[in-house]
Amino acid sequence: MKNNLFKKLPKVDDIFSHNKIAKISLDIPKRLISDSINEVLNSERKIIKNLSEEKIKSFTVDKEKLISKIIEISTKKYEYNLKRVINASGVVIHTNLGRSLIPREIAENIIETASNYSNLEFNLKNGKRGSRYDVVEDLLCKLTGAEAALVVNNNASAVMLILNTLTDGKEVIVSRGQMVEIGGSFRIPEVMKFSGAKLVEIGTTNKTHLSDYENALTEETGAFLKVHTSNYKILGFTSEVDIKDLSKLGKKHDIPVIEDIGSGSLIDFSEYGLTKEPTVMESINSGVDVVSFSGDKMLGGPQAGIIIGKKKYIEMMKKNNLTRALRVDKMTFAALEGVLKLYLDEEKALKTLPTLKMLTMSFNELEVKAKVLYSKFKESKYEKLINVSIIDGYSEVGGGSMPLEKLKTKLISIKPKEKSVNKVTSLLREVKIPIICRINEENILIDLRTVREDEFDILIEEFGEVL
Ligand SMILES: *Cc1c(COP(=O)(O)O)cnc(C)c1O
Repeated sequence: MKNNLFKKLPKVDDIFSHNKIAKISLDIPKRLISDSINEVLNSERKIIKNLSEEKIKSFTVDKEKLISKIIEISTKKYEYNLKRVINASGVVIHTNLGRSLIPREIAENIIETASNYSNLEFNLKNGKRGSRYDVVEDLLCKLTGAEAALVVNNNASAVMLILNTLTDGKEVIVSRGQMVEIGGSFRIPEVMKFSGAKLVEIGTTNKTHLSDYENALTEETGAFLKVHTSNYKILGFTSEVDIKDLSKLGKKHDIPVIEDIGSGSLIDFSEYGLTKEPTVMESINSGVDVVSFSGDKMLGGPQAGIIIGKKKYIEMMKKNNLTRALRVDKMTFAALEGVLKLYLDEEKALKTLPTLKMLTMSFNELEVKAKVLYSKFKESKYEKLINVSIIDGYSEVGGGSMPLEKLKTKLISIKPKEKSVNKVTSLLREVKIPIICRINEENILIDLRTVREDEFDILIEEFGEVL
């Protein structure tokens, strides 16, 4: 009996010549379809093998059903692994979800640059070889007041390059209060080790004085490093040395002063009601020799490590062989130039860059958005399957920036009546455009700060599918 069933299974060649399979094979590579066919046939064989005596009689091999399954699996296999998601978590600079978003206008410049030849390393004036670092150097200098600039892969590599170039294996003095670990694997002592510099820790966790830096100075001192403790704050009985005083000390002894400011905003967000964070300009004005920051945190651009400062140091870095290993691709430059150009007009940057727009979104705007989304849920076909309400809450800046900042926000709270919250949120990660939500006890929360209005209909439809 079972042998008969096995014989009824369609042959691979027959499946390939089925009109539906022939149709998808115009788009999906045959080797992926072939893998899917094998998977489906193997699983069908297993089912037949395990059939009990009485079930065998009623079992039929449904060819059309197998074909549908093959199409489903093949389509899934050919989907991009890296894909768009909807960030309903309210964490604006979400490192796991790609940090900052590039505005459409600039995305077009990336496509234009990437799909055509470009003058990446070609000087159009004299027809000679140019340098990719010229693409944004003048712009960065204009915006920050620095003498020179260099862009590398990310801020972690920027710090490594700076230390490797300026200290040449000598000692770098750092306050114990700044021995930070930033998301995953950026830890100051480790970065220091890779760079070849020797770490000299001074002061205590909560207090470091200028005299600590002075006392640690030796013939072997290569640099003073200040690290912005982006993702945590020490409160209470604390003191840090003012960067201006540290810069003066550096100048007096001819020791370069380096500052890793992490997020590196070009806008003073305290003017928009957020926590005061040091801006890039303040750092340069304080006399720091070399400053580094991320391109995709508060700046709101592509992943990059931006290094600015004294020309003599930047020139040394450009000549370092390590720079070649950390170099930035043309698509990043296309994005970064577009983003930096927006900053020539602060208001335009705030209006156009999604990260800045979300961070400075007014409570009123959030309220209006919440009402719109709430009515969409109320008017949906599955309204009876959920309890839905608008509640107050807080969003986070994310990306290790402004850890104490709580941005007052509006949330849509959804309580599924028939399925569990965990089941629903896990299914929401499997739909076409996955939705990443927050959970609060028995409720699914959607933060209106990180969800755009043009995403509402997708969200409504996908919730329907899942519920
Ligand atoms: C985020 C951060 C880094 C790492 O930057 P990436 O661009 O993610 O490599 C380094 N230092 C500080 C202080 C940071 O906040």
